[in-house]
Order: sequence, then structure tokens, then C-alpha cells
Amino acid sequence: MIKAAYVHIPFCEHICHYCDFNKVFLKNQPVDEYIQALLEEMKRTIKEHPTTALETVYIGGGTPTALSASQLDCLLKGMKEVLPLAQVQEYTIEVNPDSIEEDKLDVIQKHGVNRLSMGVQTFNEDLLQAIGRTHSRKSITDAIKRSRLAGFSNISLDLMFGLPGQKPIDFIETIQEAIALDIEHISAYSLKVEEKTVFYNRKRQGKLSLPPEEDEVEMYEQLLKMSKEAGFGQYEISNFAKAGYESKHNLVYWNNDEYYGFGAGAHGYVNGVRHQNHGPLPKYLKAVEEGTHPTLSTHKVSHIERIEEAMFMGLRKKEGVSFAEFERKYGHSLLELFREQIDLLEKRGLLVCQDGAIKLTENGLLLGNEVFEQFIAVLENE
Ligand code: SF4
Repeated sequence: MIKAAYVHIPFCEHICHYCDFNKVFLKNQPVDEYIQALLEEMKRTIKEHPTTALETVYIGGGTPTALSASQLDCLLKGMKEVLPLAQVQEYTIEVNPDSIEEDKLDVIQKHGVNRLSMGVQTFNEDLLQAIGRTHSRKSITDAIKRSRLAGFSNISLDLMFGLPGQKPIDFIETIQEAIALDIEHISAYSLKVEEKTVFYNRKRQGKLSLPPEEDEVEMYEQLLKMSKEAGFGQYEISNFAKAGYESKHNLVYWNNDEYYGFGAGAHGYVNGVRHQNHGPLPKYLKAVEEGTHPTLSTHKVSHIERIEEAMFMGLRKKEGVSFAEFERKYGHSLLELFREQIDLLEKRGLLVCQDGAIKLTENGLLLGNEVFEQFIAVLENE
């Protein structure tokens, strides 16, 4: 039974220089129509692929809080009617510091959302401007205060490092500020310059100055050290939580479990098939209006692909890939399948067999991609 759902809200009030997510400028978009289409897609999907109870829901974007309070109310109320939400344990919504006013907080709280994921990226005003964000350091701290007052006790901050012009000291200050806000969870990713972004164009023109690799490594190492000292446990390469606040929804992805994906451009994994929805709004709306699924592409995941995914997703977790769990899910002994690769990576000091699992060492955390690629394309097709 599927226990997780992702819901995509593709509207943004501004476009950040690094962003390649599926999103559009909010102005003049058919937001109300989109909400109705989204609810319709949910209703149809649940009818076709039923589940008894969802345990995690994640509303991401885009910027979900670009919706007005009444639009959020309509969406969340509608979701209660079409999805089995009575037993949801973790209900997350992504929020932007400059678009999370009291009325929106009240609405999302009223409908059972119990976790906020705030897109902060950095507390440094110059860097915020350089990456095209419109919020300020003060708007972050104000948003956290408002969220606490509204009763939210599980707040995650998204941070970025390796930003143009960023020095290790800048990131250290950002980590210090995040920790000082006494939040429960931190996600921190290094900047990847993706195609079709402002940064990509600047890079091609030779106008993007990124920190040297050694600075980026130092930023990550500081993150590991400072988050640990502040009582955060690292449970995934880029994710850190106070005890009990690990993201249940994200663990669904890293455990390679299935989930519904609703909305324009959303990805889902249902009954062994991964799918992606149409990204452009007119295509998505038209498909739903015509009574079909708004699917752009589907891919039936083979047994070997499931195993490969289990390795490169599972190894992202600090607890690694459990031998027993792997055998239960995939019917093979992990050590028999990948003996050669595991031996090699152990010798290089990147992997360790420990507590009934294989997991990344501290060096492995820095070189995750080198480890993951060892498990790809080594198994024979059935
Ligand atoms: S980073 Fe977030 S707020 Fe910025 S454009 Fe992308 S989706 Fe919108």
C-alpha cells in the first residue's frame, strides 16, 4: 500500500537564478483552475490505485505559499475530501519566508499541516541578492517567529552552499544563524548549475565565479561539525535533524518506496511504474479536463533497476542499506550480489560493513557519487 504523496504547486512570485524546478510566474496564472484539476487528479488516481491511509504528505513547488490563504484553504480542504489523510503523521508544506503571513499559517495549521520546510538558502543579504532571492535575513527570523506563534513545532530550513562568491566564513555564519533559531531540521545542498537557469547562461558566458572545490569541501565539513555540536544527527548526506525529527516523507524516497505524485511536472512511483506528469500548465489542465491522466511519460521499473535504485538512494542514508531489509525487499543477498564492489570500496575507505548494513564512511560522504556509480550497470538483465 502506498503511504506517501507529493503534491506540486508550480507558482512562484519571482524566479531564482539557480532554479530548474517546474514553475511559472504566478501573475495571471489560472491558480483556482489548477487547484480543481489537482483535486480531480488525486480523486481519479486514488480510485484507480487505492490506498487505505497516507502517512506522509509533502506539498512542494514552486512556492505553495504563493497561493492566497483562501486558495490554500480550498486546496487543503479538498485534499481532506479526496485523500485518506486521517492517519497522516507528517504533513509538510514548503514555505517562503516572504510569503508566509499569519492568515496562511492559520489555514495550514487548521488543516493538519504539522511541518514547515522553509526555503532560506543563506542568511547573507548579498548572497541572497546574488542568487535572486527576494527575502531578507530579517524576514527569515520574522517568519520563524510567526510560525512558532501559530503553533508549528517542526520547522526545517533549506540551505545552500557553494554559491557564487560565497566564502567558507559566509556559510559558517549561515549555519550559526540557523542553529541559533532553534529549528528542528536542516537540509543543505551544494549549488548545481543546471541547464535553463540564469546561472547556466552566466557560466557559459564565463560570468559566474563559483568557489573552488576545496572551499566547498570545507563548507560541507563545517556543516557536519557544527550541526553535530548543536545536537543535530546527520541521517542522510544532506539532511540533519534533532532526534525524532528526521523527515519521514524523504525517507520514503531514500528507502525506494512508492509514492503518489500529483500536479504539473510531478513525479510518482505507483505499482512498480515511475511516471512524470506534463509540466506546462496548459497541457496538464487540458489532460485533466479531458478525463485522462496528465502523464507525460511512464517507466516500468525492472527488478535490476529497483536494486540499483535501492543502492544509490539507500546509501545516501547514514544508516546505509540493511542486509536483512535488502534481502526481504529484493530477494537477494546484498553481499552475494555486490561482493566485488563492496570489497573495492571498503579497501578505498569509502564504505564500511557495520551493524548489519553497508554504509558510507566519512570519506564516502564526501565522494558519494563515486560510490553510487559502482553499483550501476553491473547486474545482468534477467
Ligand atoms: S527556488 Fe523555489 S522560489 Fe525560487 S524559483 Fe525555484 S521554486 Fe520558485
